[in-house]
Amino acid sequence: VSKRAHILPTTSSGAATDGWESLVINLDHGDPTMYEDFWKQKGEETTVVTSSWQHISYFSDIKNVCWFLEPVLVSAITRLHKVVGNAVTEGRNIVVGTGSSQLYQAALYALSPPNGSDPMNVVSAAPFYSSYPLMTDYLKSGLHKWAGDAYEFNKEQPYIELVTSPNNPDGFTRQEVVKGDKGILIHDLAYYWPQYTPILSPADYDIMLFTVSKSTGHAGSRIGWAVVKDREIAKKMTTFIEINTIGVSKDSQIRAAKILQAVSENQKEAESFFDYSYKLMAERWRKIREAVNKTELFSLPSFPAETCSFSGRTFGQLPAFAWLKCEGEVDDCEGFLRRHKILTRGGKHFGASMKYVRISMLSRENEFKLLTDRLPAIIS
Ligand code: PMP
Repeated sequence: VSKRAHILPTTSSGAATDGWESLVINLDHGDPTMYEDFWKQKGEETTVVTSSWQHISYFSDIKNVCWFLEPVLVSAITRLHKVVGNAVTEGRNIVVGTGSSQLYQAALYALSPPNGSDPMNVVSAAPFYSSYPLMTDYLKSGLHKWAGDAYEFNKEQPYIELVTSPNNPDGFTRQEVVKGDKGILIHDLAYYWPQYTPILSPADYDIMLFTVSKSTGHAGSRIGWAVVKDREIAKKMTTFIEINTIGVSKDSQIRAAKILQAVSENQKEAESFFDYSYKLMAERWRKIREAVNKTELFSLPSFPAETCSFSGRTFGQLPAFAWLKCEGEVDDCEGFLRRHKILTRGGKHFGASMKYVRISMLSRENEFKLLTDRLPAIIS
């Protein structure tokens, strides 16, 4: 998340104000404000009221491996995965985190040998999520170190490979790429939800990371969860969070549970959450492709259509980010777009060429509209 502020003024109705040509659109980070409108129309249905005497204890369920995990959140998570069919949870351990970001760090801690002679190598295929290198190395831990693009990794050493599917930044479905036999995999499935990708089967990997930030849009609640096969790994991840933050906000867990329950329940209604968000993503992708096709300056990836086992719809990926390429002579696409007052994140942050930028597709409607109006108006 960039510290650069949002500087797009809006009217009370949410529409962009006049003088739009001079407005800076900040689409650098994947802030999921697109989802506000859906949750606004839910009104009181998903409101959570907490009394001052509640959630005082550090503990939630001392019999559980993850002792600070609220039972109501476990039920909501397992039910939602069952409804959507995107992950196996039976017989698995669930660990809650302050966002999936904390769980990523907990997983690195749990998977790196405590007394190894060298730090554990951590890799992911480029273009990879820009936070992985930062989160892996910021404490300069002796336990693990960022070892870059998984396609380039050829050391005869143990490694952890991050498999992000669908991928941030480019939206493609992914599998592991390192061919060695000394690897441990972490599957980051933040975007394996039916508004972004056809669900093909329930994922059943050793360590899977999910988050409300991208599933329902509640990034500010900071709740993520890991589905972990091995009890000992789940225990070590829990220890990490115990040492790091002595648990995860119960208020946030209760709120997340309420939202996830509402999504599962509302599945039977005419306009369910995933129906609404799928239609919105499909519409946004139609509009951005139309905008990009009006000019020779840019291109976007294309995706094969597959049938979603959840919705029955056949469609190609509708990623949360547009991985836009500047065609022709422009070598610094981020700088080029910045001069046109569109803030994006350049390819180098993802281990890729600066001819690429990542643009958030999850902004509020007025910013998205400015983007699709502005892109075709840019002249080289
Ligand atoms: N993994 C991926 C692939 C992401 O894109 C993000 C959010 N940008 C995260 C993890 C972190 O999400 P959270 O808000 O749950 O920490």
